Amino acid sequence: MTPGVRPLIAGNWKMHGSLAETASLAGAVREGAAKAGAAELLVCPPFPYIHLVAGQGGLAVGGQDCHAAAKGAHTGDVAAAMLKDIGASYVILGHSERRADHAESDRAVRAKAEAALAAGLTPIVCVGESEAQRLAGEAEPVVTGQLDGSLPDGFAQAGGVVAYEPVWAIGTGRTPTEPDIAAIHAAIRANLAKRFGAAGQGLRILYGGSVKPGNAKAILALPHVDGALVGGASLVAADFVAIAAAA
Ligand code: PGA
Repeated sequence: MTPGVRPLIAGNWKMHGSLAETASLAGAVREGAAKAGAAELLVCPPFPYIHLVAGQGGLAVGGQDCHAAAKGAHTGDVAAAMLKDIGASYVILGHSERRADHAESDRAVRAKAEAALAAGLTPIVCVGESEAQRLAGEAEPVVTGQLDGSLPDGFAQAGGVVAYEPVWAIGTGRTPTEPDIAAIHAAIRANLAKRFGAAGQGLRILYGGSVKPGNAKAILALPHVDGALVGGASLVAADFVAIAAAA
């Protein structure tokens, strides 16, 4: 944890849930929020359900993507201003599933982050190495290269968030060792401080990839780990709240 920084525990609900399930999950998380301690709680439902969860207090709400354009002929896409309009305050960008499924490049992620900032949303920009890159000893340069390419200039001044998510740890039950997580987070902090100066020192750096109630405390205690981006475990309200309580 970075001293003086409020931890952020973000739930990435991906493409899960129905109307009824989303309402019930959001309600249960909200009820448990009192147990979450000092951490800020954020949930990112699928687009059709954001409106259902937003604006009820106790819980910040975010999107899982947005388009780089402010508006226009982009069938099937959603603008950052639309997310803001329905009560979202954050947007996850450059998740490895989008980088893989939609061929999103660093440049595309940067353009989306610029759009998010222009709309008044806080971008959560995801970076992380593949297993092959980790085994080749390239994790750190891959991650810092993604930061250089994906973060827009106004990122730090707007309080942007970085999420380090090793691709091979997402949904697999595997995580890097604690020293490995700490090493990448320190490298991310150094990169942010070098590029953004003092503003980069206080930005939140989340860890994501198989965070569970059982490993949250140890991971969240590491230096420069200022919260978590949680997938699978965020779909169980009690687990999500337990992770927040560990922060
Ligand atoms: P996981 O997913 O917690 O299920 O590993 C994390 C994510 O993809 O953000």
